[in-house]
Amino acid sequence: MKFNNVYIEREILKSFYTKNILDKINYGKIILCDKYTEVFNPKNQNFRIQKMNPNIILAKKRKKLIFKTPEDYTIGFEKNFYFSHMLNCVYDCSYCFLQGMFNSANYLVFVNYEDYFKEIAKIINTNTNNRICFFSGYDCDSLALDYLTNFVTNFVDFFSRYQNAFLEIRTKSVNIKPLFKFKPSKNIIIAYSINPQSVIEKFEEKTPNFEKRLNALKKIQEKGWNIGLRFDPIFISKKNKNEYLIFLERIFSKLDCSLIHSVTIGKFRMPEVFLKKIIKIRPEDSFNFTNFIKKDIEEEMMIKHFYSNIEKYVNKNKIFYN
Ligand code: SF4
Repeated sequence: MKFNNVYIEREILKSFYTKNILDKINYGKIILCDKYTEVFNPKNQNFRIQKMNPNIILAKKRKKLIFKTPEDYTIGFEKNFYFSHMLNCVYDCSYCFLQGMFNSANYLVFVNYEDYFKEIAKIINTNTNNRICFFSGYDCDSLALDYLTNFVTNFVDFFSRYQNAFLEIRTKSVNIKPLFKFKPSKNIIIAYSINPQSVIEKFEEKTPNFEKRLNALKKIQEKGWNIGLRFDPIFISKKNKNEYLIFLERIFSKLDCSLIHSVTIGKFRMPEVFLKKIIKIRPEDSFNFTNFIKKDIEEEMMIKHFYSNIEKYVNKNKIFYN
């Protein structure tokens, strides 16, 4: 991978992880900074232009490393947290909320994994009577840049020491080799965001196609790992309802349904302030965005129908409509 500039915080210049990433990339020049916020946060940046040719920023995550998930979000665990070792993504989904949340499209990688481990361990050790889930991949795609970040190697290894804490690795990437270095861990869930091919073509630019994601899921499952299906966001309507049902049949005829860890369904949602920003930077997609957020009874009915079709294959207590 080639970057024009690599921005590095002085404090982590000599870190093992920084060196590891630098060894794997081609770059024009290194620019040192005190805090990543100097590069990442300024408002006068053009997200869409940066997205065409992003730079990379290597930094240390300070202050809050682990967050509670929204109250109503669950895949069956008592306590739920999320964290991000990276901000931004190699893919370019038109509905991606990151482009509304961040001013910069540069890849920001936090390399102080040990600090994440300490914080996660603290939470696990104070919740020994609860089953906890940690979610990764809210602010990036957890697998897509793994060859640079070594996220899987580090975090799968770390979580393998615990019984009561699970890690969900959320992805659209088919870069699954790093997983297979390990014996399958019972407390890791590889969860794929998945949509029918026509939706992928319309909204999920640069992502692996449906069949590739399904094949990856199959391989991961065959190797003995937990898999999760995330129909989130779902774009079902009267028009494409049948396509969604054929899509379900294809998925469930290929996978072992009894071994699926969890299925979630989630509607497209976005804070209004992000949406306004995205409409500004992607005016060509504004028609779609306006349609997405319409609260519509018809959509609710379609989702209910979709849900009841999933119930034919997967036990109801594994399906979550968040
Ligand atoms: S894969 Fe996820 S993080 Fe990446 S662009 Fe798409 S929605 Fe955003």
